[in-house]
Amino acid sequence: MRRDYYAVLGVAATAPPREIRQAYRRLARQYSPDVNFWDTTARTLFEEIAEAYRILSDADARSIYDRFGARPDALAAARRGEDVHVAVELGFSDVVRGTTVELAVARFSPCAVCDARGRADGDVCDACVGRGVRRGLDRIRVAIPAGVDSGMQVRVAGQGSAGPFGGPRGDLLVSTRVIEHPFFIRKGEGIHCELPISVWEALRGARIRVPTPQGEAVLVVPPATQAGQVFRLRGQGVPRPGDDAPGDLFVTVRVDVPGGLDARSDELVRELERLLPLTARGDLERYRGGTA
Ligand SMILES: [Zn+2]
Repeated sequence: MRRDYYAVLGVAATAPPREIRQAYRRLARQYSPDVNFWDTTARTLFEEIAEAYRILSDADARSIYDRFGARPDALAAARRGEDVHVAVELGFSDVVRGTTVELAVARFSPCAVCDARGRADGDVCDACVGRGVRRGLDRIRVAIPAGVDSGMQVRVAGQGSAGPFGGPRGDLLVSTRVIEHPFFIRKGEGIHCELPISVWEALRGARIRVPTPQGEAVLVVPPATQAGQVFRLRGQGVPRPGDDAPGDLFVTVRVDVPGGLDARSDELVRELERLLPLTARGDLERYRGGTA
């Protein structure tokens, strides 16, 4: 047996619209959340009264209710539960491989006492105050796909709140926030990092092992690499959401210049300077004194 909207408003099934409106106003005043702010029972009743009035005050909805009131599927479809929002914080490695999180979700579920009918043994169900659903905390496992970023939303269909009187569940919307990684920085679809190399590696070239989100890769730095040069490691980044192929990793080279030269090192560097004088600044000479 379903909760009867006419009974909720205390009017006959033949009541004219004016009578329904008056009954609603009287009850709404009595159970207003403004008056009964701390009384959850009153608030639940108020919602129920509002729901009954919403249907019975609308001529079309009322005629559908009168005709199909006994058919659960017709009304259930119209009574889909609310979507429920939760937030989750993810580590960088969660994003690289995707993960499964278990979330505590506050949502409405069908009342087990009255089997979501709102009435038990002919009376209003005490457990759900006749609403057919009860609020509770459920642990829900949610698969987070690889590649999500901060501010994205993962929609889990049919895991939100149950609708009243057997209505289907709404969706669960999981907002993601990704904790920043100390080495890898996300910019759009690419992952960026900075790699210190020695002056000698920059001069002579080197093969350098670089940590990547996927594990490790060897970066080949060619001879005469300049500071700030960017190398692209294809497929060593993080997947785009909904795409299995990983994106790219961009490595920016920073040349570490040693300080505190002793007499011997200083002598050697001076000799190198004589052999390899700076030529790149030549172009700047013509800007001296502000003339072009
Ligand atoms: Zn119940």
